[in-house]
Amino acid sequence: MKKRKQQPASIGRESLVQRKKRAAAITKRLRRQYEDADCALQHRSALQLLVSTILSAQCTDQRVNKVTPSVFAKYRNAKDFASADPAEMEALIQSTGFFRNKTKSIIGAGRVISEQFGGEVPDTMEQLLELPGVARKTANVILGTWFKKNEGVVVDTHIGRLSHRLALTWRSKNDKDAVKIEKDLMEVLPRKDWTYVGHALIWHGRKVCAARRPACDECNLAELCPSAFSFDGKNAQPKTGRSTPAKKSRAAAR
Ligand code: SF4
Repeated sequence: MKKRKQQPASIGRESLVQRKKRAAAITKRLRRQYEDADCALQHRSALQLLVSTILSAQCTDQRVNKVTPSVFAKYRNAKDFASADPAEMEALIQSTGFFRNKTKSIIGAGRVISEQFGGEVPDTMEQLLELPGVARKTANVILGTWFKKNEGVVVDTHIGRLSHRLALTWRSKNDKDAVKIEKDLMEVLPRKDWTYVGHALIWHGRKVCAARRPACDECNLAELCPSAFSFDGKNAQPKTGRSTPAKKSRAAAR
């Protein structure tokens, strides 16, 4: 069967140009509301940010920030992490969940950084992806937040959800489809905004557009959001009879 060509140029009746304009208007409002939006993980170096980001998988930033002061007091550079005793590190980071895998990733990353990169966290996507436990999301956090390089857009649980609700993605099947969501966001947003919008959408997802009860009546993006007021108040399912933007966009791409 002939493969259907996806058409990123339209979401429902919205053209790519219109969608880019709407994305720009969303960014403008986000900047007004969250002028200082930034990474919530406390860190003083690229290495600390890397470790915090690995710890933040399936864990809140708040919890990570409680754990990291004792981690960073004990392990001060890549060599320290590389030679860490796994049991000791596991005990320190246990409350962040998945602590055995996270310990392996952190020790492994410490090894690669000290053996291949002279003890310094690398500043390219290609090299960051060589580190154990580092995928595009973590690499984008390091590049955007620490190195101020817009190489991609971080897609976490909040950004995945908001990208769908705001119809800023059309290739992705659901809000977990991070690779396609990132691709779409990189297409609708100018490069200079990639890191900022990532931070701001996370803040908006935490403060207003919550997973279960989005506060559409308090949202300054409502006029620009095709999902506004389409939830039944009990959970994040839209009221029956209304299509979600993601459904519309997939239909448009067929
Ligand atoms: S209008 Fe509602 S669904 Fe849309 S971004 Fe705001 S809170 Fe979320």
